[in-house]
Amino acid sequence: MSLINLYDLPPAELERTLGAIVSPPFRARQVEEWMHVRGVDSFDAMSNIPKETRAKLAEQFTLAQPEVLTRTVPASDGSQKYLFQLQDGQRIESVYMPMGDRTSICLSSQAGCAVGCTFCVTGFFGAGRNLTPAEMLGQFFVIQHEKQIPAEHMNVVFMGMGEPLLNFDNLIATLDVLYRSMSPRRITVSTSGIIPGIHDLAKLERRPNLAISINAPDRKRREEIMPITSKYPLEELMDALRAFPLEKGRDVTIEYVLLAGFNDSSADAVALAKLIRGIHAKVNAIPFNEDANLPKWMKRPSDREIDRFVDTLVRNGVRVTVRRSKGRDIAAACGQLRGKEIAKSRATRERAKASSPARTASESETEAASGRR
Ligand code: SAH
Ligand code: SF4
Repeated sequence: MSLINLYDLPPAELERTLGAIVSPPFRARQVEEWMHVRGVDSFDAMSNIPKETRAKLAEQFTLAQPEVLTRTVPASDGSQKYLFQLQDGQRIESVYMPMGDRTSICLSSQAGCAVGCTFCVTGFFGAGRNLTPAEMLGQFFVIQHEKQIPAEHMNVVFMGMGEPLLNFDNLIATLDVLYRSMSPRRITVSTSGIIPGIHDLAKLERRPNLAISINAPDRKRREEIMPITSKYPLEELMDALRAFPLEKGRDVTIEYVLLAGFNDSSADAVALAKLIRGIHAKVNAIPFNEDANLPKWMKRPSDREIDRFVDTLVRNGVRVTVRRSKGRDIAAACGQLRGKEIAKSRATRERAKASSPARTASESETEAASGRR
């Protein structure tokens, strides 16, 4: 019989479960704190909990976290990619990105992705399965422990493998635990534009920051690279963003992957500025990261083209940052992680390795300009 992972229980359910086994109530609260604030992976670590209570818990439950298979050597900017193995053998990746006094951890929400954007390596390898709360929290706690990062210096971004809003309930259970030690303002959920999920997020009392992968200035071109547009049309997506409640000082992030000759002209920048008018937004321009598995025509624009696109946005009153990839020694660009590939045959792996150009590492954002809309 496999044990229930206590990290899979949303806080209210955990409280009920612990209440039935652990007494008095303050002890149950201590167990919860060991988990949700300290992120321990065993009952033995709970030093102020009586041995018998720990043993009783261990009979029925586990606190297992994903196993680290590999960590890349830190890139020049200090970032590192973690490859985790899950209990069923699936593999997922997370990225640790130190950025001055703001450390970001990029988490995966699914093992694979069914959305199938044509510029994305995760999409290329196809659907996997939803990650459980224990698997999402586990990525976070393992890295936090290794790096000893104080919670107040941490940001979490759901920009790793998968579409978080297609794993909505587990995402919310995970967020509820993260909120125990960090403000919702420090957490960003990036989506390809799953409109019902955006509406559901909007209804929550505590909302993370929202990032939307727009990636094209019009419906036709968006559909070409993001087939999900035919299900969730761009116009309706923009309406959902306009309706999304934002507290003071918060923005929606518009992610825009720059593909040379496809969506990077000055006219495209003007069209993008128009598209997002009326939304309290900042644009995050992401120069395309090339990969041997992706269509050959997809290329990263030159720095000059990127600058021209960004300048045009700024002249049109848009705030924009550019996600510049720094190190070239690890392949860890958020959104193009490929854990699944590693589980494939050795031959495929070798082939990919032989033909894959050295790719970029972590992504640090350069403030390109400001100017409120
Ligand atoms: N599924 C979610 C979150 C993961 S993808 C989403 O699509 O938003 C995170 C980001 O990486 C997205 O903005 C996506 O557009 C971007 N991305 C994917 N593949 C990329 C590539 N090859 N080069 C640059 N950015 C890429
Ligand atoms: Fe999935 Fe996001 Fe990649 Fe699209 S960009 S395939 S939604 S992970």
